[in-house]
Amino acid sequence: MRVFRNIPQPNKIRGQLHRALILITFIIGLCIFIPTLFIEFRQTIQHQNEEMVNYLNAQTYFFESWLTERSSDIHTIANLDFVKGYHYEKAQAFFQDFKDKTDFTDLIFVNKDGIVQFDTVTELTTNGTGVNVQNREYFQIAKKTQQPYITDIFISKVTNQPIVAFASPILNEQQEFNGVVFGTVNVQVINQYLHESRVGFLGHAYILNQNGMMLTELNVRNNDSSSEQFIVDEHILDFAVNNTANDLHVYKDMNGKWVFAKSKPINQGKWFIISEIALFDALKPLIIRFLLIAICIVIGSFFTIRVMLQLSKKIEEPIQQLLTGVGKVQQGNYDYQINEHQLAPYAQEFQELCSSFNDMSTKVRQDTILLKELSITCQLTKLYNRRYLIEQGELVFEKCLEDENACSCIAIDIDFFKKVNDTYGHLIGDEVLKHVANIISNSVRRVDLITRYGGEEFVILSPDTTIESAIKIAERVRENVEANPYTNDHVKINVTVSIGIAEYGRASDVATFYELLDKADQALYMAKESGRNQLRVYDSTKVGTNI
Ligand code: GH3
Ligand code: MG
Ligand code: MG
Repeated sequence: MRVFRNIPQPNKIRGQLHRALILITFIIGLCIFIPTLFIEFRQTIQHQNEEMVNYLNAQTYFFESWLTERSSDIHTIANLDFVKGYHYEKAQAFFQDFKDKTDFTDLIFVNKDGIVQFDTVTELTTNGTGVNVQNREYFQIAKKTQQPYITDIFISKVTNQPIVAFASPILNEQQEFNGVVFGTVNVQVINQYLHESRVGFLGHAYILNQNGMMLTELNVRNNDSSSEQFIVDEHILDFAVNNTANDLHVYKDMNGKWVFAKSKPINQGKWFIISEIALFDALKPLIIRFLLIAICIVIGSFFTIRVMLQLSKKIEEPIQQLLTGVGKVQQGNYDYQINEHQLAPYAQEFQELCSSFNDMSTKVRQDTILLKELSITCQLTKLYNRRYLIEQGELVFEKCLEDENACSCIAIDIDFFKKVNDTYGHLIGDEVLKHVANIISNSVRRVDLITRYGGEEFVILSPDTTIESAIKIAERVRENVEANPYTNDHVKINVTVSIGIAEYGRASDVATFYELLDKADQALYMAKESGRNQLRVYDSTKVGTNI
């Protein structure tokens, strides 16, 4: 139940503010997040592209230079005099020395018939002297073109390692083909260079030939594996061959992972260098930035919502107080005042509104009291009027009944008042009425309820009063009126009153307030009938007993 009570109702201010608040926060969040996402994503892709282009350019430059240098090494060796002149001993010593100082794993001297004359031998490489390489591609191309030639990467029959061979023809003085010098380099060396030059680059780079074989992977993998295992998927080869636009591509790599890729042809278009970076690695900085932005937005939203909630509370609470106040006044509780001290934390407008409400409620209360007073008071005599007697009389009578006490009613009428009006005029008549009202007021007790019942008639309701006490009161009134004529500067008017008295008591046949009033009136009539200026008590057996 408590939970439901805390949920703001949709059509209340709180509900509307909360909805607006959530919407605003959401819109602001989106306004920050979406453009940032877009800009950051573009920048990251651009940055990644640039990084890969730089990397590929550096790799290509390095690798092309390296190939050219190795090729020119072999070319230079093939043009040395002692090589051209077939000075085996000197050449072999030079070959051995040169191999030790460079990347070459083997240097081989082949005569013009394709027979290996000597090579550099280590404990790892067996002596290939006498082997016929006439059918090998590098021998045939070097012989045919009489130009240096770089082979594809292949598995050495001697070392069973992936190697690349640099061949250069030996030409005699007539510039005729006279043999070949070729040097081999283990692919691991190339791979190592590729690896070393990847400063700051997270991805993976390798070299493909036109058949899709991953040349630089050959040594990394199990040597016993078939070369088919090093053939890349068709889509990767397609991408490498047709990537004329040099775009950043996205595809699944050999391990089935999504990667960004770029490629560039090298070695006169015979090979392709490919660099790949896992999407996750490439986008990681972006993801981290998004997370940071998202966290900032969440924290920002949290504080915004808190501030807005406070604000909505500050709007809602004074309105709630006003509503409560209006409700109370509506129920007739004109005394209700909003506590202005509690409004100190709220906006000035609310304080002014609540203060105006309090002023209004005070005014309503005062006016209501005044109206009430006017409605129950006779303006001439300032005594209560008949309405008040009817309202209160019943309550007073009921109370006496409850307490089993006596209750008396005294009805008073000015004798021959019409004559006063006729003789002295209505204004003097009014003054005489006021004068008599004053005498009556001064002749009764505090507990007695005096009313101007109408015209020149007055009724006194005396609670907890026996007939004996009522008679005393009535007699006092009668005597005082008689003894105090009305006087002003010009006239002196003698006034008398006739009085009828009735009592509610054990022996009485009075059961209600109205009956009591009626009986007093009957007794008053008897007093008038009996000559005026006297009292009469109601008696059920013989109405209007003389006193
Ligand atoms: P009785 O002794 O039988 O009571 O004779 P009365 O003349 O007093 O009685 P009646 O009922 O004939 O006349 C009452 C008069 O009181 C008539 C009316 O004009 C006058 N009266 C009633 N109210 C007022 C008032 O407020 N001011 C003045 N000046 N006269 C009033
Ligand atoms: Mg009269
Ligand atoms: Mg009268």
